[in-house]
Amino acid sequence: MKIGVVLIMMLAACAGVATAQQTRLEQMHDKTVLIFSPHPDDEVFGVGGTIALLNRNHNKVIVAIYTNDDKGSQDPEMTRERLAEIRKHEEEASEAALGTPKENIQWLGYEDGMLEYAPQPHLVEQVTEIIRRIRPDVLLSIDPGEWYARWHKTDHRMAAFNTLDAVRAAEFALYFPNQRLELNLQPYHVPEMYFYYSTDQEANYGVVIDDVMDQKVKAATAQVSQFPPAEDHYRADWDPQTLHVTETHLRSLQPRKDGHYVEIFRYATEFNQR
Ligand SMILES: [Zn+2]
Repeated sequence: MKIGVVLIMMLAACAGVATAQQTRLEQMHDKTVLIFSPHPDDEVFGVGGTIALLNRNHNKVIVAIYTNDDKGSQDPEMTRERLAEIRKHEEEASEAALGTPKENIQWLGYEDGMLEYAPQPHLVEQVTEIIRRIRPDVLLSIDPGEWYARWHKTDHRMAAFNTLDAVRAAEFALYFPNQRLELNLQPYHVPEMYFYYSTDQEANYGVVIDDVMDQKVKAATAQVSQFPPAEDHYRADWDPQTLHVTETHLRSLQPRKDGHYVEIFRYATEFNQR
């Protein structure tokens, strides 16, 4: 939902602090990157430029999306089923603009706004299985906070905590041993994590996205139903004037540092520890 755009606006650009052994996202080649997103757009608004760079550098990018975003419309004629279908197509178009094939998008399919009421053991088991199956070199997810649990809107907070719980569970064979016995999925330690939607106090890493800013804007505006006028009365396309105004607005929202567009993260290893 477009709250992601608002959140980005609130984030200040931060210094790119990196440890010696840290994998720099913008320099990765031929690795596997697993990205978790609460809704089919948060990863685009939050880290779309970084996704474009990762794809450009021949990494395998897998996007796992918790919910179907079936409630984020003010159109009185809209139904949840129709909106979920629209959001799926928009997300596929959006990720395609960043270079991610639709085969690399995994849908967990939970209802928008209801992730916190999903069966907890099943939710963490499901995500643990994805991690053990994909075995990512780097995992990206929404930030649960390093020292204090931070506030997020519903779905965002559940996705943040659940993903991290699954990172821990994936390491230990005695969590969900059926996955090894029945699916031959071995325990897996996620070596590095980058959290997005971080607070500016906790963010410790930035990726310059100047080269792919056009791609990010194109991906964001592929989410047609998330912006007026389609948000209030659905239409599948933009009129050119409104599109131009929206593109300009999106560019103005993107954090900058030293004259460059940046996306900011909190880097962590060893289960949420730097
Ligand atoms: Zn969201």
